[in-house]
Amino acid sequence: MHTTLTAHVGKDVFVRPSPVAMVWQGPGTRHQAMAVPGVTLGSGDVLVEVELATVCGSDVHTVLGHREAATPLVLGHEQVGRVVAVGGPVTAMDGTLLVAGMRVVWSVVVSCGVCDRCSADLQQTCRRRATYGHDRVHRGWELSGGFATHVELLEGTAIVIVGETPPAAVFAPASCATATAIAALDAAGRDLTGTAVLVTGAGMLGLTVTAIATDAGARVVVSDPDPARRSLAGRFGAVATVDPAAGEAEHLDLARLAAGVEGFPVALEVSGEVSGIDAAIGALSIGGTAVLVGSESPGAPLGIDAERIVRGLLTVRGVHDSRPRDLQRAVDFLTGAWRRYPFAELVGAEFALDDVDEALVAAASGAFPRVGVRP
Ligand SMILES: [Zn+2]
Ligand SMILES: [Zn+2]
Repeated sequence: MHTTLTAHVGKDVFVRPSPVAMVWQGPGTRHQAMAVPGVTLGSGDVLVEVELATVCGSDVHTVLGHREAATPLVLGHEQVGRVVAVGGPVTAMDGTLLVAGMRVVWSVVVSCGVCDRCSADLQQTCRRRATYGHDRVHRGWELSGGFATHVELLEGTAIVIVGETPPAAVFAPASCATATAIAALDAAGRDLTGTAVLVTGAGMLGLTVTAIATDAGARVVVSDPDPARRSLAGRFGAVATVDPAAGEAEHLDLARLAAGVEGFPVALEVSGEVSGIDAAIGALSIGGTAVLVGSESPGAPLGIDAERIVRGLLTVRGVHDSRPRDLQRAVDFLTGAWRRYPFAELVGAEFALDDVDEALVAAASGAFPRVGVRP
């Protein structure tokens, strides 16, 4: 959508035609378009025009009613856009002063930076956080999610400037999928050079983790039941892929054989399936670390024998969302890596903003790692 900034007096911003956000009222309802004729920016706020949003798996879980959501809600938290107006001097993560026209991505969470959780470097759990695409829409912050022509970025949002050359499909998933992949590998807590890494699940997150770990020098083996995703994993750097349908013991033997190791020092679980969690922990070598990322909605309890963790001196960590610096690293990674790995191909279909319900159906089908919504 082409928009023209017609006035910017003080902190009131008027965009013509009016910004539009798609509002979701709960499972079984269709989105409704909501026009937002005027936006009042605080001194740390930024109005951004969305170039492309992508549908995250958590958006799908929400509309299917698999997770709690505060409605009415503007969904969407993965997107790339352009600065339209700033409420005052606002800087990007790299210290650059933001001005209209800059192409940017932004964090999923708005954090305060001073509460106990922010101080503990857990900004994604900030006690005063606001979350794009997750918070109930309310007067004064209607443009609160990515399924909209514009988003109002609040003070405390980590904003990262991105390059002009890579397609929007490369950068749109940065704020959630790519930044989470960075955080997950960080949580493994070791130098990945020459390290054998098992990744269970070859969706958007698994493929991204595979490419980042491969770039860091790891030998990555990917486990996924879908042959098309296994072949895609090879294009994202996996040295081998295995099919969990072969049986847990058998497919882990194949994975170890492919990596030439007795066990994996690092396993990243991104499928969210109990079988994937069992495999990730079962595949570890002595002293290994399993990072669980995929279990984002309520699932079955695990049946892990604690003796395996104790005698194996294993570490099991959970990672959810990411911190501001993870987003900066995600953009730094994508800026070079999009030419080496087919990130632009992961957005398999695009829909107009009015067709966001159809986009969510397409995303739920699992046919593509990501589906795009283009205003
Ligand atoms: Zn997400
Ligand atoms: Zn905080």
